[in-house]
Amino acid sequence: MKYINDLDLIGKRVFIRCDFNVPLDENGNITDDNRIKQVLTTIEYAIDNKAKVILASHLGRPKGKKNPKYSLSPVAKRLSTLLKRDVEFVDDCIGNKVLSRVEALKNGDVLLLENLRFYEGEEKNSQEFAQELKKLFDIYINDAFGVCHRKHASVHALVKISDIAAGGFLLKRELEYFDKVLNSTEKPFVAVIGGAKVSGKLECLINLIDKADKIIIGGAQAFTFLKALGYEVGKSLVEDDLTDTALEIIEKAKKSSVKFYLPVDFVCADSIDDTLNYETKTYQEIPKDKMGLDIGEASCALFKEVLQDAKTIVWNGPMGVFEVDAFANGTKKIAKAIGESRALSVVGGGDTAEAVQKVGESSNMSYISTGGGASLELLEGKSLPAIEALKEKE
Ligand code: AMP
Repeated sequence: MKYINDLDLIGKRVFIRCDFNVPLDENGNITDDNRIKQVLTTIEYAIDNKAKVILASHLGRPKGKKNPKYSLSPVAKRLSTLLKRDVEFVDDCIGNKVLSRVEALKNGDVLLLENLRFYEGEEKNSQEFAQELKKLFDIYINDAFGVCHRKHASVHALVKISDIAAGGFLLKRELEYFDKVLNSTEKPFVAVIGGAKVSGKLECLINLIDKADKIIIGGAQAFTFLKALGYEVGKSLVEDDLTDTALEIIEKAKKSSVKFYLPVDFVCADSIDDTLNYETKTYQEIPKDKMGLDIGEASCALFKEVLQDAKTIVWNGPMGVFEVDAFANGTKKIAKAIGESRALSVVGGGDTAEAVQKVGESSNMSYISTGGGASLELLEGKSLPAIEALKEKE
């Protein structure tokens, strides 16, 4: 696959598909600009190489209609500050108005287009919409890892019809890190899988059994496994229809000599809102009328020991309801244990990235992905449609 640094950009109109899907407060202020910062290297590279830079992204879910609430104009302002130069903004992403703004660009200028999802053709992977976008540029760059698992026009149909298409530096980094962990020869390789549901991580677990030496299960998923093993899980989140599958996973892990670790204690309470009366119970003593909302200290100690000799770690899914302080301890302790280890540690995007940030351990990880769904699909062993389209351009 080609990357931006393989191309001659001088004087060319370079379209960079970014992921500027940043959180905004009710007044339209950006509350976290990490997604913008992650693409700066690619944008700066294009500017330094005298390209006419056209940036495009989606923001939120405007469902194919123009909606000022989802305008990218705040991103243009933040980009101007971060790049220390003017970033122009045009309130549309296709059509004559946009074309004439693109025509006026000089080498090194930067123009941000309005939200791609203001047209329903974007999410429908429409050929017509892609054809309109194609009129704007000579070279196509994808640096939006977070949408690479989607067959959307700006990352899929458009790539297919572009004369020259390549990846940006963020895409390169993401793919390199996931390739490093999934094909790691640095063993033991430990996969830490948490989160809400076994169903959401099923394919990921099955794929990782073939790759990992040890699997640690945390979060609410643990209860489906414990219930399958015949234990009382009280009111904890459980997927009754997946208990047989849970047993099959345990069996498959055993057959593959993969060490499979479940938590041994839980912080239990009446409900998520019951942040004052929680108590820690072992896995064999979860009260019928309580729910497990975090892993307990004994599990933290056990998992820390499991992680101690790890050379490669991949982490997807929090250990408990990390959004509530009373139930964030397990996630914090595991984040700390991973951060302190000398292993190559790659953290999935989405909730896990948010959890690591919330517990203040981001800087200790080797890499935190910017894509939740996209990183999960890589862990599931799937190829991403947008990446496949780029690979075909060779
Ligand atoms: P996922 O997107 O599957 O990684 O799930 C993340 C969500 O799982 C977070 O919002 C957590 O609050 C939730 N979660 C983790 N552990 C538990 C638990 N024991 N009970 C209920 N929800 C949980």
